[in-house]
Amino acid sequence: MLDTEKQFAQLLLQWHKNDNKRLMPWKGEKDPYKIWLSEIILQQTRVEQGLSYYEKFIQQFPTINHLANAQDEVVFKLWEGLGYYNRCKNLLHTARLICKEYQGTFPTEYDAILALKGIGPYTAAAIASFAFNQPYAVVDGNVFRVLARVFGISTAIDSLDGKVRFTHLANKVLTPNSAAMHNQAIMDFGATVCKPFNPLCFTCVFNTFCVAKQEALVNQLPVKEKVLLKKKRFFSYFIFEYQGNLLIKKRTNSDIWQNLHEFYLVESAEAVFWNQQLVAESLLQQLGIEKADIVHISPMYVQQLTHQKIQGQFVKIVLPEVPKPLQQYQLVPLKEVSAWAFPKFINQYLEANSTQSSLF
Ligand code: SF4
Repeated sequence: MLDTEKQFAQLLLQWHKNDNKRLMPWKGEKDPYKIWLSEIILQQTRVEQGLSYYEKFIQQFPTINHLANAQDEVVFKLWEGLGYYNRCKNLLHTARLICKEYQGTFPTEYDAILALKGIGPYTAAAIASFAFNQPYAVVDGNVFRVLARVFGISTAIDSLDGKVRFTHLANKVLTPNSAAMHNQAIMDFGATVCKPFNPLCFTCVFNTFCVAKQEALVNQLPVKEKVLLKKKRFFSYFIFEYQGNLLIKKRTNSDIWQNLHEFYLVESAEAVFWNQQLVAESLLQQLGIEKADIVHISPMYVQQLTHQKIQGQFVKIVLPEVPKPLQQYQLVPLKEVSAWAFPKFINQYLEANSTQSSLF
């Protein structure tokens, strides 16, 4: 393990012991049946929705034997509303198989768990680690996001390459004798601190070495192939001004607008409607900026590309100093900005506001 990987693993467990306040009914659960049930119910279901189903199932079928012996219709009725009926079918099939071939006791080895119908690598790792503390890393969306940001990995998480790379890294940073705790910690950390939008970087335990934080890439990581191909994308730009200069950067990744320049980008999965408070929170949480003058928040701009529609707002901010994560940006005197190549989306804004002396 590299030093940063070791440090990551240690700090994660420390955070879990001292600061992790996330409560889930199945947290700390050691019964493989209950862990399995919660994972199957939560696949493609929001936690808030899945919770009541989990509780109803446990109440009606407290053990795997109860589930295996239940009539199909009763189980399907309880499943109603969750959709994906194949998952329910597999659930019943596997419960019956475990009762028949394993005398009602869940297999303890990862490979045997993975061989069960309806159980993929993620669920197998969750059962093996949470129930039996075996050293298998869970790799879900939260884990992808945390690892991509902390280690600055821009391989698309939904590509084949990405899956292999992230699974390897997730297992490499796993603390083997604390697998259950580690897995719980990283998932909770992703859900409550390193959130998809506006993560709490400023108070984050990894912020001294997190690559995304250091290099102001928090909003660009993780990369998803699907998002790059998505029809609607939401780009908000923070235009930072420092002593009469604007902070700009070249787009170098394999996305749209390659080699053109841009300001500090906040890409989000959904439209964000910025206001003073939200901008101030974002500046503080992501860049550690406590004092700044938010001089202008634009209306929504739209640009239709051939395959994508880009929309978002521009926020003009005057900085008293350039914080560390933004020091890799180029400082361009206001008067010279028009000489640089920007995408049309940005040019639309610059052109519309160039005569406003308070802005440019
Ligand atoms: S510093 Fe920010 S991006 Fe990095 S791990 Fe912490 S919350 Fe996530």
